[in-house]
Amino acid sequence: MLLRGRSSVVFMSASTRTDVGRIRTYQAHDNLRPVQVEMISESIAALEGRGAIVAAAPTGVGKTAAALSAALEISRKPGNERTIMFMTGRQSQHRIVVETVREINLRLPKGEPPVTLVDMIGQSGMCVQPFANEHPTLFTSLCSEARANAKCRPFLSSTKAIGNLALTTPLHVHELVKMSRDFEENGQSMPVCPWKVGRELAKHVDIIVCDYNHLFMESVRSASLSGMQLELEDLIVIIDEAHNLPDRIRKGLELKLTPDMVRNATFEVDEYLQTMEAAFGETDKEAVETIRWAHNVITRLRPTMRAWFRKLGVEVAANDGGGRRSSPETKQRLVTIEEFHELMNQAFDAGANDNAQTTLSVDGEEIDSVATQDVSISADGPIPELRLRRLAEVLQGVEIDREADEIQDLAANRLGSIITAVDQYGRTSALALVFEDNSANGAITSHLLDPSLVSGPIFSRVSGSILMSGTLYPTELYREVLGLANDAALRSFSSPFMNDRRPVVISSDVNGTLRQKGEAMTAKIQSHIAAIVNSCSGHIAVFAPSYVRIAEYVAGQNWGDIKVVLEERTWGKQRTDRLLDDLEDARRRGKRLMLAGVFAGKLAEGIDYRNNILDAVICIGIPMAPPSVESKALQKYFDDKFGFGKGMKWAMVQPPMNAVLQAMGRPIRSIDDRAFILLLDERHQRGNYKACLPDDLSPIITHDGATTQMIAQRFFTKTKPAERAEGS
Ligand code: SF4
Repeated sequence: MLLRGRSSVVFMSASTRTDVGRIRTYQAHDNLRPVQVEMISESIAALEGRGAIVAAAPTGVGKTAAALSAALEISRKPGNERTIMFMTGRQSQHRIVVETVREINLRLPKGEPPVTLVDMIGQSGMCVQPFANEHPTLFTSLCSEARANAKCRPFLSSTKAIGNLALTTPLHVHELVKMSRDFEENGQSMPVCPWKVGRELAKHVDIIVCDYNHLFMESVRSASLSGMQLELEDLIVIIDEAHNLPDRIRKGLELKLTPDMVRNATFEVDEYLQTMEAAFGETDKEAVETIRWAHNVITRLRPTMRAWFRKLGVEVAANDGGGRRSSPETKQRLVTIEEFHELMNQAFDAGANDNAQTTLSVDGEEIDSVATQDVSISADGPIPELRLRRLAEVLQGVEIDREADEIQDLAANRLGSIITAVDQYGRTSALALVFEDNSANGAITSHLLDPSLVSGPIFSRVSGSILMSGTLYPTELYREVLGLANDAALRSFSSPFMNDRRPVVISSDVNGTLRQKGEAMTAKIQSHIAAIVNSCSGHIAVFAPSYVRIAEYVAGQNWGDIKVVLEERTWGKQRTDRLLDDLEDARRRGKRLMLAGVFAGKLAEGIDYRNNILDAVICIGIPMAPPSVESKALQKYFDDKFGFGKGMKWAMVQPPMNAVLQAMGRPIRSIDDRAFILLLDERHQRGNYKACLPDDLSPIITHDGATTQMIAQRFFTKTKPAERAEGS
């Protein structure tokens, strides 16, 4: 049945809350699944009130099409137009969005203007200059320099013709880049900067497809939005693979501080000061004085910092870890924000005593007078805070001439960033500073425990949000951790056929904890693996918590006609991509492979197993992280903020369970795929672990290898790959 326009049918679902009976204008498929209708209606209901929906939607729901359909219904409302920002961390998803929009355009009712889109990736990925592949830091400076000096011809060329073409057909970013690179005018090659085309188009299209960084990385957000001439309030955001967003935000604030960084920053500020004195010594005395003050402070910070790190190293070395020397926490120590401030204050005070010439002011307020030498400094008062902020500003603004092969960010800029993080989040308990003895001089790393401090204000300002993923369990966690409003809708959509096409079997005789490790447990695990090898005729993937354990369970065993491929730590994207070809090739030749890797590794998350290339996935154990100072700080933070017990559930159990869910989702990439999932750990049946599995999961329990073989044989005999259906 082809559904076009706003014709009416009776929806198959009775549980939709809004507009039941009306087919939406923007549909990517001829036939709607009931669950897809549900997701569209629930999402529209949330967006109508400028609210948010957290949608756990496994493969088979058709979530990309559903989210776009709902968002377009709202964003195209006459008089209240909005821009949809579809944010994804995966390049493969960009293509799916473009294809979905093309499908929507094929089914638009007469008179409805086509949906327009611009697809963007990072600037270097879109660049048409030969230096596009240089290291990101070098690329950024080459691009800025070329633009500032009007030396980039593609940037100077008119974007009009390419922009008009991109508005007529939704283009994948690589198509846009190719078109821009090959552009000719009057028979002459006239390449255009695709990144500039993308930024200029953003204001005029229905949908921008881009990475999370555009909104959730503070250093990128304001430049990105102003470059696109958009405000947060103009946007409806769709966050794809939203389970990745908390960690992505946290990673953005994972900054390192080392004594060597401070030393190098001193040299850089020195050089910067000389340049600025020569250029502005007479014309902008206040700016030069500020840099001289910062130079003074950082010069005094250098020996103090080195001594402090030495002291921390000695303290950590004295920690015997209660007999658990292998645990990361034995080499770590929590550094309090007060300690950090104290260290900085020592440098400020010492700098203030150095000479009697400098008076530093911020917005006319004197904040550090070395002439009077009697500045009163309170640990909580505004003066130290202002000093810290001003120092960070100077450090982040440092620029010096560098050789082309110097590719790392300037130490001064990095030091400025960590000081800014302390200034911004240090007043809360959400920032943990962790010292780690790393055999050099040690390093302090900042960890933002609460991503909601970054994402909450953004979600509260945008015009509505859809957060979706196949592994967004429990949905409540994501609402809280990302700082969504209390009334954000929490929904788990059930995938049709999932329990039939992807049965999940849990073994009750295996426990993957280290305590239970031993020959007897290994033998049980191997008998379950053998059961799957003997039952299916295709490829299998096996995942375990570590390389040591995967070698112990899989390598060195005789598995008959199936060839084992062990993942290596050093594998890059090219190697894993080649593996997909190897799998296809082996299948053509009637051969079988058993891939063996670690949870959250290259084989478990960085690869898209297309064409139902895997028959089965076996997950051994649960990859619980060993205790670390950071994980304990996170557990305490969650207990304090969300209630006792949430720390264990959300900080300790959910992340490893999410890694298991990711591995479980590998073989099912399309609704017609089928695969057998075996979870070798009895903990999946209980408590906090069970709570992290999908609500609608109906696992089958097996007690030994023989039972597993019987269940698997029944599945593989009965279930054949179906004909390809639409959507994911
Ligand atoms: S302006 Fe555009 S084309 Fe020029 S260097 Fe930068 S990204 Fe490349």
